[in-house]
Amino acid sequence: MLESVDQRLGQREEDYALGTVKMLQCPQCSYCTTNASHLKTHYYKHTGEKPFACPYCPFTCNQKSNLQPHVRRHTGEKPYACPYCPYRTGHKSNFNSHSQKCNGLTVMK
Ligand SMILES: [Zn+2]
Ligand SMILES: [Zn+2]
Ligand SMILES: [Zn+2]
Repeated sequence: MLESVDQRLGQREEDYALGTVKMLQCPQCSYCTTNASHLKTHYYKHTGEKPFACPYCPFTCNQKSNLQPHVRRHTGEKPYACPYCPYRTGHKSNFNSHSQKCNGLTVMK
């Protein structure tokens, strides 16, 4: 299953590299992109594949960007630190919503 997907997408990648194809289209729907890896990630939605697996637990997902914050839950890594208070988080979206609130409370005018 994975091999056939790779072959099909690989062929399109080749066409793209040769400049014969401007847009890559999903073979299963009307999704279009110029980025081969975006198409591959998109294609996992059709196949139901979840190739990104957590090394610490059975969690799997089909997007690397979803795996990274999950793995940080195990490692405790929290790279997003609020400059206004001791708050730290491993989730960029959490950090963004926190810093908005925090920034509003902190007098920084
Ligand atoms: Zn599609
Ligand atoms: Zn996990
Ligand atoms: Zn804060």
